[in-house]
Amino acid sequence: MELGIIGDGASVVIVLNSILKNTTCSNISSITIYAARPKIGPGRAYQNDIHKALMNLPNSSLSLKNQESEYIKWCQRHPLLSNTIQVKKHEYSPRKIFGRYIAYTFLETMSEIKSKGVEVKIFNKPATSIDECKGKYIVNRQDSSQKTVNKLILGFGTSKPKDFYNLANNQGYIASVYPLSESLYRILDKDRVAIIGSGLTAVDIAKSLLEGGHKGRIFMATRYGNLPRVRNALAEYHLTHTNMEILTGEISDSINIARQVYKEIYKIAKKEHIELEHFKQHFLSRLTPEERLSHSLLLANSGENTLETILKILHPNIEKIWQKMSNRQAALFLDKWERRFRSFMNPMPIETANTLKKAIQKGQLVILSGTQSINKNRYDEFDIRHNKGISFADKVYNAASPEYESYGFIPSNKKILERFSPCKGEHSMYFNSLSIDPSTGSLKSNPDIYLIGQPTANFYYLTNSLEALSRQANIISKSL
Ligand SMILES: Cc1cc2nc3c(=O)[nH]c(=O)nc-3n(C[C@H](O)[C@H](O)[C@H](O)COP(=O)(O)OP(=O)(O)OC[C@H]3O[C@@H](n4cnc5c(N)ncnc54)[C@H](O)[C@@H]3O)c2cc1C
Repeated sequence: MELGIIGDGASVVIVLNSILKNTTCSNISSITIYAARPKIGPGRAYQNDIHKALMNLPNSSLSLKNQESEYIKWCQRHPLLSNTIQVKKHEYSPRKIFGRYIAYTFLETMSEIKSKGVEVKIFNKPATSIDECKGKYIVNRQDSSQKTVNKLILGFGTSKPKDFYNLANNQGYIASVYPLSESLYRILDKDRVAIIGSGLTAVDIAKSLLEGGHKGRIFMATRYGNLPRVRNALAEYHLTHTNMEILTGEISDSINIARQVYKEIYKIAKKEHIELEHFKQHFLSRLTPEERLSHSLLLANSGENTLETILKILHPNIEKIWQKMSNRQAALFLDKWERRFRSFMNPMPIETANTLKKAIQKGQLVILSGTQSINKNRYDEFDIRHNKGISFADKVYNAASPEYESYGFIPSNKKILERFSPCKGEHSMYFNSLSIDPSTGSLKSNPDIYLIGQPTANFYYLTNSLEALSRQANIISKSL
């Protein structure tokens, strides 16, 4: 079989690693990678950026090979790196250093794959379109050369964020956040900056501005003010009375993933004799964003260390609960619960939360809830209308969630996705209505085409984290 992979980010490296782990490679004659960037591995997420742009997982949890402390060991083998970064278990590394680890892992993986007799080709030109001919796929590239493959994995990463307030083409509007080293360059020291969103990207921007000595006010323009929960990375808690098999057997039909997950947390906590009161706060209380941040920070600082472990165990179950929900139930969940649930599932490090809290106390950072509109006014500033009135900004960063339609991708990727779309133009929860077979990771309409990462959004609930990518890569590699 001739295998083609489009993309050059972490997904590609994770999938290649999975192929090596789960197969003998005996049925693969060649692997052709179509990359847009000269270096394979860092992709968009872990590209060269400012040193303060950190991973959202502690060093101890980082491994592309699912091996304990693999990243720390890699750093220790590279003494030049260990002089410049923290490689302690519970610290958070700069993303660009993690990017180097991925690039290194890619080279190592490729050489192992080659040693099994697989021919490997890398084309450093992005794939622009795909044609089908006699059961094979022709991948066209910018330099108009072609190559045919039998199976194809599409791992081309994230789409652009939704433009909720139609701000594209306005001067001072920053739609492309990364690399931060480039977008921060556009901000003047005293600019009033609004950040649309309140997820990890929004937090990343606020933190980078604050730690870079920004003097102007920063507004986080949110609809519900759901800042991410605070992660306590200290000392892993080991469950003694619960295991994965017990949980897998106990999932019931449910219409609400958040409630179901809460029930699962509750069950584990009861078995483990863990005090539960504080978990309720995140879902049930009516605290303001500032109060919720303080509460979450207090908990993390108190050494509360069970929740991360419980959630880690629950991750695959969350995916199962999601798969059981009907399209209607899932759409309802996305509408009503998704934001709070995601802020619960994707926590920020304590250090980041401390930076935000200090800025809130100083009045420099303001969390706006109930944002209704953002418009340019006649003084060339942005009006932000929210539930407490109007605030004004000179620059607006878009850190909203990504588009779930193919037009969110660059034109060539849009064309590739639409090539396989069963019902073009029709609105669906999934990217361009592309539906995936969860037992193979391939398209239901074209079983030889596999998707990984962002384009699987909503088909899988957890799409884009390193953990979710590993799970998807595992399924794909076993079915190739
Ligand atoms: C800033 C940022 C920080 C993150 N931090 C974390 C974290 O700390 N922990 C975590 O678990 N997850 C994190 N994530 C989630 C992250 O998306 C995944 O961990 C992972 O990096 C996604 O990898 P990817 O290869 O799917 O996408 P990307 O990193 O977006 O890479 C896709 C690559 O494909 C290339 N490409 C696109 N189209 C084509 C084409 N037609 N032909 C050839 N190449 C193409 C692009 O150039 C791009 O480099 C982060 C995401 C971002 C954006």
